[in-house]
Amino acid sequence: MLEIDNLRITYGKHTALGGVGMAVDKGECVVILGANGAGKSSLLKAVGGVVRPASGVISHEGQDLAQVPAHEIVERGIALVPEGRGIFARMSVADNLALGCHPARARGGAEARRREVLELFPRLAERQKQLVGTMSGGEQQMVAIARALMSNPDLLLLDEPSLGLAPIVTKEVFAALGRIRETGLTLLIVEQNVRASLALASRGYLLEAGRVVGSGSAEQLQSDPAVQRAFLGGT
Ligand code: ATP
Repeated sequence: MLEIDNLRITYGKHTALGGVGMAVDKGECVVILGANGAGKSSLLKAVGGVVRPASGVISHEGQDLAQVPAHEIVERGIALVPEGRGIFARMSVADNLALGCHPARARGGAEARRREVLELFPRLAERQKQLVGTMSGGEQQMVAIARALMSNPDLLLLDEPSLGLAPIVTKEVFAALGRIRETGLTLLIVEQNVRASLALASRGYLLEAGRVVGSGSAEQLQSDPAVQRAFLGGT
C-alpha cells in the first residue's frame, strides 16, 4: 500500500533523511523507532504531504505522492495525527470530529463513522460538548485520533501518540490503537515508547541520523542490540 524509496528530506543545508526506504502492506501496523532528531517526524510529514521531499519516491497504491499537496493526500485516504495533536482547543469534541468529515471522501457515511469512532472512544462519547482545551492530555490525543478517523482513511499516520502522557494514559491510548488495528486499518506509527509500540506493531524500522539502521519483526527489534542500546537501557 505504501512504498518509500530513497527518500531525502533537507531543511536548508541540514539533511534530515538521507535516502530512506521502507514499505507498509495493507492491514499492517508498522512502527518507526529512533532517538530525537533521527528524522521520524520528517518522514511521516512527507507521507502526509506537510513536508516536501528533496528527492525520492513515496508511492501509495502505486501513485507517487511526493509532490501531492496535503489536502489531496487526505482525499487519497491518508490521515496524519501530528505530534502535538493539532486539535482545536476552543472547540468542542463534536466540532473537532465534524471538522474531520470535511474531505469529500468522508462525507458519505459520516454519521455511521461517527458512531463507530465514539464506540472506539467511549470517553469521548460522554464528553461531546466539552471544549477540547479543558481535557486531559490523553483525552486530547484521543480526540486527535478520532478526528483523523473521521476523514475515512485507509492509512493512519501517528506521530508520537504517547508524547507527554503518563504511563497509564499511554496504555489507554495504545489499547484504543489496538482496537483500531483490529478493524483492519493500516497504521504507521512513530514512537519513542518502544515497549508499547512493539507490543502493538507487527514490524518496524529503526532510524538513526536520517538512515534506516535496522528493521524486522517486533520480536527481532525488541532484541536488536541497537534498539536495546538506544531505548531499553541495555548496554
Ligand atoms: P523528534 O522525536 O525529536 O521529533 P524526529 O526523529 O522526529 O525527532 P525530525 O523532527 O524529523 O526528527 O527532525 C530530524 C532533523 O531535522 C533534526 O535534526 C531536526 O532538528 C531537523 N528539522 C526538523 N524540522 C526542521 C525544520 N522545519 N527546519 C530545520 N530543521 C528541521
